[in-house]
Amino acid sequence: MKYRNFVLLFTILFLLVAAAAGQAGFTVGTATAAPGQRATGSIEVPAGVDAGTSIPVAVFQGAKPGPVLALVSGSHGTEYASIIAMEKLIQTLDPAQISGTVIVLPLVNIPSFQQKVPHVNPVDGKSMNRYYPGKQDGTQTERASWLITKQVVERCDYLIDYHGGDLDENLRPYSYWPKTGNAKQDATTHDMVLAFGLDHIIVWSDRPKDPNASRYLDNTANTRGKPAIVVEAGYSGTVQEGDVQALVNGTLSVMRYLKMLPGAAGQVKNPVWFGKVDTVVSEFDGIFYPLVQRGVRVEKDAKIGYVTDYFGKTIFEARAPAAGVILYICGVPSMKKGDNVANIGEVTTNP
Ligand SMILES: [Zn+2]
Repeated sequence: MKYRNFVLLFTILFLLVAAAAGQAGFTVGTATAAPGQRATGSIEVPAGVDAGTSIPVAVFQGAKPGPVLALVSGSHGTEYASIIAMEKLIQTLDPAQISGTVIVLPLVNIPSFQQKVPHVNPVDGKSMNRYYPGKQDGTQTERASWLITKQVVERCDYLIDYHGGDLDENLRPYSYWPKTGNAKQDATTHDMVLAFGLDHIIVWSDRPKDPNASRYLDNTANTRGKPAIVVEAGYSGTVQEGDVQALVNGTLSVMRYLKMLPGAAGQVKNPVWFGKVDTVVSEFDGIFYPLVQRGVRVEKDAKIGYVTDYFGKTIFEARAPAAGVILYICGVPSMKKGDNVANIGEVTTNP
């Protein structure tokens, strides 16, 4: 063989091997999983106008082909039950059983988790579920959101975003069904929330339509044609076995619905749908006293809590603006003017 032909043959062989390897491995951040394997690593968010951060990622590439499902948790780093549920899944998912690929981000907001700061990323004071699709040259939250959009949302076919009651939120479990107006996609997300198994479901129909101003993670996926839902369980800094198990089992059931795991998916038998959510806010700074528990039904104008000044005098009575279910109520005495006292779901029979 002439040298020139040898070089040509070698080049062709090299390209074929590289192409095969490219098909075989699935890479997110520094984690590359071969078929039938799992890999862990991180999405490195480089320093910019503020410090960089490192977002842990696990990739499970199934032995058989199938869709790509993304599971994202801990954008609010003190919604612990959802973070612990992802840790359990990472330890129990078996790539040999999976058809397709699972990307897990168990803890997006490490600064919030480490410093025990609810609602926001303490590095830039921004919620890590309000700045999607993100900005490459923005603050840490925006840069992280940009990388998650590129490396996770754009690469997946389906997505589940996990939340729960934050340190100050006494929350009962529920999910969101994002209704986009696209009948096919809405049918899939409808099936996903029913398969997930949380029996209280909020119909979310007023989401941003512009993919460039999608704000929320699930909406970033949905506006890009990838069916996505949001699930919430856990409350007030606790890690209750029932909440963790509901999130783990719900995820496995959705994977069965998507034919990524063998077996039949579960389905909620008698879902309670909410067509509207009312947010009650405090009109004063002070000390909050709840009068109802999460999950209870209240009538319109029912007194659900009150705020006193720092000497015990009642200065504000919180009342339900409509009949509904207490989805969450403030679980701590700290109260600031304009902060949430409770979210109340108004039941609809026509979701
Ligand atoms: Zn959250």
